[in-house]
Amino acid sequence: MRKAKKILGSTLLIGSLLAASHSALAQTKENPSQQAFDNKVVKRIDVDRIYENVSYLAETIGPRVAGTAKEDQTVEYISNQFRQYGFDDVEIQPFQIVTGYTRPTTSSFTVNGKSYQVTAFGYTQNTPDGGLSSELVYIGLGSDAEVAGKDLSGKIALVHRGGGIPFATKMSNAKNAGASGVVIINDVAGISTFNLAADETNLPTLFMTKADGDALVSTLGQSALTGSMQIEGAKFTTATSHNVIATKKPLANKDTKQIIMVGAHHDSVAVGTGASDNASGTSVLLELARVMANTPSDTEIRFITFGAEERGLLGSYHYTKQLSQDEINRTVAMFNMDMVGSKNSGKFAMFTVDGKSNTATTLGNSAGTRLFDAISYGQVGRSDHQPFTEVGIPAAVFSYAPLEPEYHTAGDKIELISKEKLLKTAQVLGAAIYQAARPDTPALERSKVAPVPVEAVYDKDLHL
Ligand SMILES: [Zn+2]
Repeated sequence: MRKAKKILGSTLLIGSLLAASHSALAQTKENPSQQAFDNKVVKRIDVDRIYENVSYLAETIGPRVAGTAKEDQTVEYISNQFRQYGFDDVEIQPFQIVTGYTRPTTSSFTVNGKSYQVTAFGYTQNTPDGGLSSELVYIGLGSDAEVAGKDLSGKIALVHRGGGIPFATKMSNAKNAGASGVVIINDVAGISTFNLAADETNLPTLFMTKADGDALVSTLGQSALTGSMQIEGAKFTTATSHNVIATKKPLANKDTKQIIMVGAHHDSVAVGTGASDNASGTSVLLELARVMANTPSDTEIRFITFGAEERGLLGSYHYTKQLSQDEINRTVAMFNMDMVGSKNSGKFAMFTVDGKSNTATTLGNSAGTRLFDAISYGQVGRSDHQPFTEVGIPAAVFSYAPLEPEYHTAGDKIELISKEKLLKTAQVLGAAIYQAARPDTPALERSKVAPVPVEAVYDKDLHL
């Protein structure tokens, strides 16, 4: 019931989430008032406009790799579209991404004059000129719990490999505690080279053998040690990617303070033209923004297209990191769309990171049930709903499962696009968003004709 709590600002769902049932569903399906409300949005969706935008993004612009001139062109096009629809609040949000890396030419580690065998991690930073000399502090496996409350300011953290904790997490936990460098100790014999996450803000990070590291840790148990580490010659190449955010404000006199977020990534991989992945989601989002631009609401609606999804959800992570706790608390649902228009994909479906239903899937399924059929959901992360889930916002990705075989191949082109699927996605998402965002919900609640959200059915065999 956590999801119900988050939407308390709207009287719409309080009783109705509890009351979801088949009889309620039947009532909703036949409820002419609800159809009239859905139609306010659904009937205005123009699938030809969606298709033209897919065609423009995929074929006129072409592959939209993050950080390239083609992405810049895409960002300009999207922001101009938003402005043409009547949004005065359109933000282009830049962020840096790593596009290339040259490994260090030199790496060394000495303690009390003894030199140890080490390798430098991929995507490590260099140490400052002249190297880094500081006290060694052992932080176990580098888990959140082990590092919590520790002050590692300016120190070199010694940490063991393993425990199911990624190298990048050990490094970033040490960094967040103030460390200036990290030495990771192998948990098996030998030494090798691994990569951190591709992030130019990584700490200087070395890897050493288990035998040497274990010996250092046991010495550290008896006396303080100072280590010196040196990493030189590492080079990052970076580029700028962007998110584009168009915000629709609620009616001033009916503002519930709720926020709904609608997202889709506008970047693509280099092969094909990214028609399905994800000119389709971006173009459905644009059409929803056009239709909603002048539709009164009691809820703020943010339409966000993300850059650099294909490089590891970098745009959506950047966006969620800059949200305030207040904005997070007020966001009742995030609807993500990814690959929503291929002729060769399967059935319309929703996915959450934890495989549990939430406000986004409940609203989505209610709308789907009213307009077409029930929509089941499965468990998938790895698209832009994931960072939102991680900060506590109920989020889901809408797609078609299974994915088309042309996914991330040269076959992802305009010929692959189904207008029928684009339209279905737009209609369901439009009705779902409008159900929560429209200004007359309190009156409807009182007159007991409020639409009843219907819990979607989990399908463990549903996969993207
Ligand atoms: Zn995608």
